[in-house]
Amino acid sequence: AAKAAGKDRVLPFDEQLRDQQLQRSRTAEQLRAALAADELAVHYQPIVALDGNRVIGVEALVRWCPPGGAPIGPDRFIPAAEASGLIVALGDWVLARACRDAAPWHARHGAGVSVNVSPRQLAEPDFVCRVHRALEASGLPGAALTLEITEGVLVGAGPQAELTIAHLTALRAIGVRVAIDDFGTGYSSLAYLRDLPIDILKIDRSFLPHSSDDVAGQTALVRAIVDLARSLGLITVAEGVETEEHAELLRRLGCDRVQGYLLGRPAPAAATAHAFAPELVAS
Ligand code: C2E
Ligand code: MG
Ligand code: MG
Ligand code: MG
Repeated sequence: AAKAAGKDRVLPFDEQLRDQQLQRSRTAEQLRAALAADELAVHYQPIVALDGNRVIGVEALVRWCPPGGAPIGPDRFIPAAEASGLIVALGDWVLARACRDAAPWHARHGAGVSVNVSPRQLAEPDFVCRVHRALEASGLPGAALTLEITEGVLVGAGPQAELTIAHLTALRAIGVRVAIDDFGTGYSSLAYLRDLPIDILKIDRSFLPHSSDDVAGQTALVRAIVDLARSLGLITVAEGVETEEHAELLRRLGCDRVQGYLLGRPAPAAATAHAFAPELVAS
């Protein structure tokens, strides 16, 4: 190859980039086949309201389950799906499946379902129709659905952010909730929290203390986020709650909901049905 090493230091980086792009397009091809072959699955992780200690909903998390192999997590294929545009079809599939699985959980237990939505999906001109279709096909009411987005898609001027805001505003009019995922990990100004169509802040798990020497500082940050959210009328959900100490801290700070391995790991739909309060059976 025309390396010209030392002469042009941009080249090796360029090659690295091309390598990554090649890898991503290979992954996207395999993923396209996997979607067609029905090798994707949606798992569900409980979200617990601290007021009453009840499972009030679940987050839908996609998995790739190649036949005979171990399941592959979304961090290993969502970026490729985003880059190739396949995320639009994949996202439609997840949304339809999540609404269908959650419809009986909502009917029996009043539970809701949260679905992650990527920037590329929000940029589709007919995004609102796609969500309507998933709701109608499943019978799930809009009020039982939450869309999780990252703060980046809402911030910044320009037609892209404006289109996203218009979509979310239209969906909120039929009761759909909007959550900011991984809150606190972006670098945007906080003004958007006041101005934009959102309902819920999901506090990133990096804010919880993971050793005894960062408790004071981490506690101060979580307290500040919870107070800010409350003063803006937003619901708080803490992610990555792994210990009783985490749950106790969040309860003390007035966080509304918790999610994490302490409360339950993501699991297939069949196992999730048991996560809700038992039905009242007439005897
Ligand atoms: P996320 O939306 O922030 O989801 C939470 C992630 O944290 C999940 O990882 C979950 O399994 C993990 N988690 C939950 N509780 C704990 C805990 O107590 N400790 C730790 N260390 N981790 C915990 P997962 O399933 O690997 O998903 C990773 C990311 O992939 C998600 O982060 C989300 O951004 C993305 N993702 C997942 N499903 C979809 C999807 O259907 N569409 C899109 N666009 N993105 C998705
Ligand atoms: Mg999420
Ligand atoms: Mg998150
Ligand atoms: Mg995350």
